[in-house]
Amino acid sequence: MASVYHSMSDADLDQELAQLEAEAEALRARNLALDMARGKPSREQTDLSKPMLDLLTGETDLTDGGIPADNYFAPDGLPSARALAAEIIGVDAAHVIVNGSSSLNLMHDLVAHAYALGVCGHDPWCTQGQVKFLCPAPGYDRHFTVTAHYGIENIPVAMTPDGPDMDEVARLVETDPQVKGIWCVPKYSNPQGCTYSDETVRRFAALKPAAPDFRIFWDNAYAVHDLYDTGDELLNIFDALAEAGAADLVYEFASTAKVTFPGSGMAWVAASDADIADIRSHFAAMRVCPEKISQFAHVAFLRDAAGVRAHMRKHAAVIRPRFELVERKFAEGLADLGIATWTHPRGGYFVLFNGPHGSAKAIVALAKELGVTLTGAGATWPYGNDPCDSDIRIAPTFPTLEELAEALDVFIVAVKLVCARMERAARS
Ligand code: PLP
Repeated sequence: MASVYHSMSDADLDQELAQLEAEAEALRARNLALDMARGKPSREQTDLSKPMLDLLTGETDLTDGGIPADNYFAPDGLPSARALAAEIIGVDAAHVIVNGSSSLNLMHDLVAHAYALGVCGHDPWCTQGQVKFLCPAPGYDRHFTVTAHYGIENIPVAMTPDGPDMDEVARLVETDPQVKGIWCVPKYSNPQGCTYSDETVRRFAALKPAAPDFRIFWDNAYAVHDLYDTGDELLNIFDALAEAGAADLVYEFASTAKVTFPGSGMAWVAASDADIADIRSHFAAMRVCPEKISQFAHVAFLRDAAGVRAHMRKHAAVIRPRFELVERKFAEGLADLGIATWTHPRGGYFVLFNGPHGSAKAIVALAKELGVTLTGAGATWPYGNDPCDSDIRIAPTFPTLEELAEALDVFIVAVKLVCARMERAARS
């Protein structure tokens, strides 16, 4: 659809611009300080898990499957915690290590391990010249930061509504031995909120990498984060690998960061027999065993996958209205203007907003001036470089509904004003 501003006469455009500048001026005068920048759960969400803290007392017997949670032992995590983690992502508990409270931390550690020491006996990546990672983009900025931190070259790959462009992924992975990995958020991707199609998952499982030490970093961060009772279905990557007769290709990660408490939950990694043995040996050099009292509390609180689903329905009740507000505000404020599109996720933490080429930095800067902080334009691309300067990540969970409504109104004024200014500039 053509931009409404493009089809206006010069006089109408000038009148519209004057009107939008006046709206912006009025907003500026309000000195707002609203934040839609990061995907944090709201206070109402973290409150949902506070009862977990009441489950442990000084009297609690902290043994789990015969293992004391309050001592060393169980380097792979408590048996009940491994079983819970495995059930959540649909794998065998023997293939899971529960470790620490941050899945990003685990991803970092496995990149560091591969870089310094090598994957399963292969040469360390740091001895193999310039190695590369594929980054479906826009994507999760902190993934890209991990690989960039080690000097690994981040290569953007286009995203489609079904997941990464698999022709491009296969071409790069199967021909270039310097490509050592790919970042994936397969369910309710950050920031689009899309779920990889069955065909995409099968094509991942069927990859024949040129590098024997290539691994898919399958970050299933939003595995249970449905907004509606019927959520998106993600094909199980390990089932797809078994179907394809493949192994040693995927590290899958997840955590309870956005189930219970970010930073104070439990995180885990699942992989093939050989990979999990390699990961175990790496972790064994790092610590005697993971922190297990939090694991114990999580199992006491969540119990099993059904318990997790019930808990996540409470989260959904809190954040679904926020996502629906984003949809309603954008539909009312922007749908007929032909200047923007956005995604309509059914889960996860984000909506991806797409403005005209060359608009995102200006929209984010103007919104900031008007009192609304957004994720930096370009932040969702490797090296902060969005080649079209058009993507803006909307994170609706943290503000209250009232704050979000205000922030979205400001955002919409910023979008319209930037687009009208761009049209005016194009004509002069
Ligand atoms: N992975 C993705 C895709 C995320 O969006 C986030 C947080 O926003 C994380 C991982 C962080 O998870 P954790 O707190 O378990 O490190």
